[in-house]
Parts: sequence; structure tokens; C-alpha cells
Amino acid sequence: MAYETPDHNMEMPCPCQKCGGWFDLNDGRGSDKWFPDTVICEQCAEIEQKEIEIEEEISELKSEIEDAEYTIKTGKERMAELEKKLKEIQDHDFKPNYGF
Ligand SMILES: [Zn+2]
Repeated sequence: MAYETPDHNMEMPCPCQKCGGWFDLNDGRGSDKWFPDTVICEQCAEIEQKEIEIEEEISELKSEIEDAEYTIKTGKERMAELEKKLKEIQDHDFKPNYGF
């Protein structure tokens, strides 16, 4: 909620860079992403934190999915290799020093 004029009860009224509302500087919080090195109002700071949390979770999930895809890819390659070797063994008579 944006006020046109600062509340006279505020010790240090500041306009919020994000929403344009007035807030007491003592109640504000440092912005981590939207306005680095700037204090913004508490409500905006909470929304900003939520945005950061969501972005972090998405980023973690992307990384987990990439790892899982790598595991599947290398696992399938190794399995194909082993199946080929197994078939070679099963299709040939055993010879000493058979190299594999
Ligand atoms: Zn704000």
C-alpha cells in the first residue's frame, strides 16, 4: 500500500524504490537482488526473498536433473558395452587369454 505522504509517526520516512510506498527506514531491509545496497520496505523485501528462494530451487532442480540425465546416459552406454561383451563371451568357445 503506497502512501502519498509519509506517516508522521515515522522516525525516518523513506520512499520504497520498489513499490513507491513510504516506510520507516528502521523497519526496512536491505535489498539483495532488485536494488543492491538499497533499503526497501519490509513487504517488498519479503517478496524479493520469495523470488530468490524460488529461483534457487529451480536452479537446484535443473542441476539435479542434469546429473540424473548424465547418470542415465553413461549407465546406458556402459550397459550396452557390457551386453556386447557378454554376447561375445557367450557366442565364442572359451579360449585362454581371451582379451577383454
Ligand atoms: Zn516496497
